[in-house]
Amino acid sequence: MRRIREAYGRFMQGRYGCNGVDEFGRFLSVAAFIFVLLSLIFRKVFIFYWIGLALLVYCYYRICSRNFDKRYRENESYLNLRYNRAVFIQQFRRRREELRTHRIFTCPQCRQKVRVPRGKGRIAIRCPKCGSEFVKKS
Ligand SMILES: [Zn+2]
Repeated sequence: MRRIREAYGRFMQGRYGCNGVDEFGRFLSVAAFIFVLLSLIFRKVFIFYWIGLALLVYCYYRICSRNFDKRYRENESYLNLRYNRAVFIQQFRRRREELRTHRIFTCPQCRQKVRVPRGKGRIAIRCPKCGSEFVKKS
């Protein structure tokens, strides 16, 4: 058992995986697991199996890789992508919340978007950009 551990340690020396699994690696292994699981459920859909296998191979390829720089950058772009997605979802939620309490009108003169609170009846709206007024039901 010690021999195996030693051999493994020697093999892992200078490889990307020796510092533990990074976030992208964790994502890949979870995705691989999901696809393998799907392939077990949908036995006739072979694509799940192949995708799962490809992800698993890629995951191990990264662990065994000696190109730290490239793997590091891969992880960086993955983290960026995840961050952008979180920001996008947050903005989407905020906009949806805003539409519940406010209405957005477009100025007929300059196409500027104007936000007014809902439920105030017919109101005159002054465009903050060009100063023209228009009447809308809020
Ligand atoms: Zn305007």
